[in-house]
This record gives sequence, C-alpha cells and structure tokens, in this order.
Amino acid sequence: MDMDFTREELAFRDEVRAFLDANLPEHIREGARATPSVFVEPDIGLEWQRILHAKGWLAYHWPVEVGGAGWTPVQHYIFEKECALADAPALSVLGLRLVGPVIAHFGTDEQKARFLPRILSAEDLWCQGYSEPGSGSDLASLKTRAVLDGDRYRVTGSKIWTTHAHYANWMFCLARTDADVKAQHGISFLLIRMDQPGITVRPIVTMAGDHEVNQVFLDDVEALVADRIGAEGQGWTIAKFLLENERGGACHAPRLLADIAALKADAMRQPSGINGPVGHDPVLAERIARLELEAQALEVTELRILADLAKGRQPGPQTSLLKLISSNLRQAIDECAVDVHGYAGLQLPQERPLYGNTSPEPIGSKAAQLAAPTYLNGRAWTIFGGSNEVQKNIIAKTVLGL
Ligand SMILES: Cc1cc2nc3c(=O)[nH]c(=O)nc-3n(C[C@H](O)[C@H](O)[C@H](O)COP(=O)(O)OP(=O)(O)OC[C@H]3O[C@@H](n4cnc5c(N)ncnc54)[C@H](O)[C@@H]3O)c2cc1C
Repeated sequence: MDMDFTREELAFRDEVRAFLDANLPEHIREGARATPSVFVEPDIGLEWQRILHAKGWLAYHWPVEVGGAGWTPVQHYIFEKECALADAPALSVLGLRLVGPVIAHFGTDEQKARFLPRILSAEDLWCQGYSEPGSGSDLASLKTRAVLDGDRYRVTGSKIWTTHAHYANWMFCLARTDADVKAQHGISFLLIRMDQPGITVRPIVTMAGDHEVNQVFLDDVEALVADRIGAEGQGWTIAKFLLENERGGACHAPRLLADIAALKADAMRQPSGINGPVGHDPVLAERIARLELEAQALEVTELRILADLAKGRQPGPQTSLLKLISSNLRQAIDECAVDVHGYAGLQLPQERPLYGNTSPEPIGSKAAQLAAPTYLNGRAWTIFGGSNEVQKNIIAKTVLGL
C-alpha cells in the first residue's frame, strides 16, 4: 500500500493549514484544549461551525448537492488530521453527522431544503431521542408511542441520556407507530419540535460533574406527518443507518494520535522525583508506544472505511470495530494521562456542581487539571452509541458470522 500523499494532496494539506492558521482564533483553540468533555459545548463549537460554514468546509462529508465539499477520502482524513493538530474543537455530531446524513439520504426534497441549510447555519440544534429507561442496548423494545391524528402524530413517552436536549430546538426521535407487528417493524423516525407544550427536559449531572445529558418527557406532543423521515415503520432501517455513521463515520485516529503526542510531551515535562521525567520510565514509555501503534493501526482501518464511503457504500457493521477500538483507546489514553500527572492528575474542578467548594486552589499544569475530569467524562465512550458488549455481539454475528 502506498501511504504517501500525492502532490495534489500535499497542496490540499497546505491549503487547510493556511486556512486554520488564518481563521481558527486562539480563544476557540483554547476553549477546545480546556474541554474535558466528549461533547463540545455550543459556546465553543458554534463559532467555529459558522467559520467553517462560510468557507464551505463544514459538512464536507455530505453529498455535494446539499452542501458537501466533494472531497476524496484522503482529503477528509487530511482535514480532520490538520484540525486535530491545530486544536480545533470537535464539532457536535448531532446535526452534522447524525440527522443531517439521514435527511440527505432518506428525506424528501422538501425536507432536505427545509432542514439541511438550518443545520449548517446552526439555526437548528438537534438532540437524539433513541434511548429510553429500559431500552438502551435493546433499542427495538422502545415504548414511546406515536398515535396518528390527522396530519400529525401525538407522541407520549420518555427518552433518557439525551445529550444537549437543553440546547436543542429539534429532536430526532424513534417512536412506536404500530404495536401489533414485530418490534423492529413498528418504529418510525419522527422529527419533533422541542419548543412545544408537553416537553420537559430534566438535567442529569454525571459523575464528572457535567450537565450534558438529560431525561426528556414527551406528554402528548405533536410531530407532523410531514416531518416523518421515510415511510411509517421504516424507522429501524433509518436508525441503523444513523448508528453506523455514529459509530464509524468520523475519523477518530487523528485526534487520538494528537492526544498521544500531547501525552508524550507531558510525560517528558513531568518530573518523576527520582530520575528525570516520568517519560523516561521504560514501563510508561512502552505503554505510550503501544497506544501509538494501536492508534496508527486504527488510522489505516479508518482510511479504508473512508474509501468505501467515497464509493457510496455505507460502511456497515464493521463500524462497530472502529467504535470498539477507538473507545477503548480513548479511555486508555485518558487513564495514562491521570497516571502521568500523578497527584495533580487526581483533582476535580471546583465549579463542577457535584464537587462544590471542597478542593483547594488548582495545582499543576492545565493538562494535569484536565486529566481527572477528562478521565471521568470519558467513561461514557464505551457506553454511548452502543456499549462495548453490544459492539462485540454485532461483530461476532454480522462480521465473523458466529
Ligand atoms: C454520555 C452519554 C450520552 C448519551 N447520549 C445519548 C443521546 O444523545 N441519545 C440517546 O438516545 N442515547 C444516548 N445515550 C444512551 C446510550 O446509547 C445507552 O446508554 C447505551 O445504548 C446503553 O444502554 P443502557 O444505558 O440502557 O444500558 P443497558 O442496555 O441496560 O446495558 C447495561 C449493561 O448490560 C450490557 N448488555 C446489555 N445487553 C447486552 C447483551 N445483549 N450482551 C452483553 N451485554 C449486554 C451493556 O453492555 C451494559 O454494560 C448516551 C449515553 C451516555 C453514557
């Protein structure tokens, strides 16, 4: 395999670098560096989203006719890599990577014209109403029901772990429209306005002290039939299309590799108290080298999947492999960072609601102060989008044929 970039690809890389140098403001880079969260907060992400949109590089992976950039898979990769190296914020996936491609693929022309431009301009912020209390891994058992009433459905039920529901003005929601058929066949994919009576958003504060997820109660709320994506009962097919994008559509390796590089640099700065920096400890050095090798292997696999996407092929269940490996790697990097920073890597920010005012002044570098919050927040990687065990089941059944 030829792993070198062509002359045109190198020119594109330089163009991306020059753009980032000129247009990615320091306060956004700083905000991205300071976020311990899996999900970037709108105050960090939206300004960058608007800058990318003005350049036409925001939804580069969408079909060209609805705003995509028409790039090759290698260009996708180069762009993600340069953004990671420049500390650009990872944008919220909810509109751009989850519901946007669904609308582009399954939506009517009217739905595409109505919703997609508003995702790009960030006029609409979305949340994902899949999981319910009692229906997470076994999503097909979901109970939220939608009853047809003229030109609209009346929807009642509850969604949980709904990321950024407190910012969203729209929810894409799986609801049961037919209880008399096989569970998977009775589900529809509905778009629901969040600013209507009957919707209650209750915050859930996680063990990292963050408010990112919520429980959402839907009490006889309306979803227009015109806002249903696909046919009634097609929701499960659409849900799987979306989950494949959620698990594998993005490039994880560039950010993992950038974080490993930062970890190495931190290890070389951090005194061990015995003999030089902690980075000189051979056990730690081997641990970081293994992380780097695994991230490089993931990078090659991601490039192969991007090549499939460019040929119009959905990546399919092998995205479960990407989700599994990248989530495990992410957690291993976060865990290593806590170890590298020693005592300073164990502190939690005072302003987190759960921890109140109990800790003294922060100690150590910014990276040290972020280590524990990032570690705690990142426990979610192996749960959301389908837990590790669920990914392993999918790989066993559909990839290995066991
Ligand atoms: C931070 C965060 C953000 C999230 N954001 C969203 C969101 O925006 N929208 C949304 O809809 N959902 C969201 N989720 C929910 C997420 O998708 C679910 O938590 C996940 O699918 C697991 O479901 P569950 O929590 O009900 O756990 P369960 O399904 O109850 O699983 C409990 C445990 O049992 C294991 N298990 C379950 N079934 C099997 C099996 N068949 N074989 C082996 N082991 C099994 C699981 O791996 C897990 O360890 C989010 C979750 C988190 C943590």
